[in-house]
Amino acid sequence: MARRLLILGSTGSIGTQALDIVERSPELELVGLSAERSWEALVEQARAHGVGRIAIADADAGARAAEAWTGGEVLTGAKGLVRLVLESEPDLVLNALVGSAGLGPTVATLGEGIDLALANKESLVVGGELVTALAQATGAQIIPVDSEHSAIHQLLAGEKAGTVDKIVLTASGGPFRGRTAQELRDVTIEQALAHPTWAMGGKITIDSATLMNKGLELIEAHHLFGTPYEQIDVVVHPQSIVHSLIQLCDGATLAHLGYPDMRVPIAYALHHPDRVELPVAPLDLAQLGSLTFEQPDTDTFACLRLAREAGEAGGTAPCILNAANEVAVHAFLNGRLRFHEIAAVIEHTLETIPAGRIHAFQTLYAADRDARATAAELVEQAEARST
Ligand code: NAD
Ligand code: MG
Repeated sequence: MARRLLILGSTGSIGTQALDIVERSPELELVGLSAERSWEALVEQARAHGVGRIAIADADAGARAAEAWTGGEVLTGAKGLVRLVLESEPDLVLNALVGSAGLGPTVATLGEGIDLALANKESLVVGGELVTALAQATGAQIIPVDSEHSAIHQLLAGEKAGTVDKIVLTASGGPFRGRTAQELRDVTIEQALAHPTWAMGGKITIDSATLMNKGLELIEAHHLFGTPYEQIDVVVHPQSIVHSLIQLCDGATLAHLGYPDMRVPIAYALHHPDRVELPVAPLDLAQLGSLTFEQPDTDTFACLRLAREAGEAGGTAPCILNAANEVAVHAFLNGRLRFHEIAAVIEHTLETIPAGRIHAFQTLYAADRDARATAAELVEQAEARST
C-alpha cells in the first residue's frame, strides 16, 4: 500500500527536493501541497503530481490560485493549512515551512496521531516540551529532516538508553568563519547568502552565517532526543562531511558521513524505516584528503551563546529568541539592519521580555507576538541610529 504524503512548504528548498524524492518513489502517494504565496509554482506542482488539494497561506494569492486552477480545492490562510492536514488523511506530513508559522501544522499533525517528517526546526525550538509530549500522547513519530538530527537519529537507532554520553553537532561555520567582530560590521546581504557548503532558503542561510542555525539545532536536539544541554556539544567542521557524532559510555564515538546533499536526510525521513536508492556519489575519503575541526567562536558569533542560554533557561525563552531572530533576519534581508545587529536585537529582546512558564500553546503564541513587537521596535531604533 502506498504511503499518503502531505508536503507543507513544497515550493521551498526542502519542499522541491522532497518532490524529487517523491518522483523516484512509487510507494509514496502525494495527497496535498502548500506554499505561502507563490501560487503559480504551487499550482504547477499540483498539476504535475496530480494533487487535488492545496493550501496557500496568503489570502490574495489563494484567491488567484482558485481562479486559475479549477482542477482541485484551494484552502487559504493559517486555518487552511491546518484543514489541509486534517482533511487530506495523510500517513505522513513533511513540514518544510520556515519559521514559527510551522508550529500550528506540527501540532495539528501530531494531535491527529500522524507521523511527522520535520524540517521545520522552529516548531521544536518554540514548543519543544508541548510538541514532544503531544507526540508521546498520540503515538505519532517525529522523524527529523535536519541533516545533523537525521544523522543522530540513525546513530542512536542501535543504542540502548543510558549508553550515550554526548551528542556532538557539527557546524560548517558559515561564510564568515574565522572573522573578527570588527570584520563582521560591513558584510553585505550577498556575502551572508553565499553559504560555503549548502544551498538553502534565505532565512536558514542567514542563520548559518550568524551560527543561530546551530543554536536552534542545539535546542532541536535537546527536545528530539531528550538530551540535557550539557551533553550536547558543537564542533565546527567546514567541509560538512561529518553530519554529527555520538559518544558512548565505552569510549567509542560513532559518526555519520556523506557529501552535503539534503535529499539523503529527506529520503530517510520519507521512507523510514526503509532505505531507498538515491543517485548520490559514494564518499571518497582519499579524494577529500583531510577533514578539519575547530571550536566555535561564541564571542564573535553571539547567537550560538544566546541560543544555549535560552535553551537552558527554558520556558518561553527559546520562543522569544526564535521570534526576535525571525524579525532581525527579515530586517537584515530587507537592508534594514546590519549583520552584527542581529544578535544585539535578539539579546535586547530577551532582556526586555521576561521568560515565563508555558501553560499551553496559547502561552507560546502570546510570547511569539510580544517578542516580535519588541524586536520590531529595536530594529526601528537601529535603523534610526544609522540614518
Ligand atoms: P524556504 O524559504 O526555501 O521554503 C519555505 C517554504 O515554506 C516555502 O514553500 C514557503 O512558501 C513556505 N512558507 C514560508 N512561510 C510560510 C508561512 N508563513 N505560512 C505558510 N507557508 C510558508 O525554506 P527552506 O530552506 O526549505 O527551509 C524550510 C525549513 O527546513 C526551515 O525550518 C529550515 O530551517 C529547515 N531546514 C532547511 C534546510 C535546507 O537545506 N534548506 C536544511 C535543514 C533544515
Ligand atoms: Mg542542519
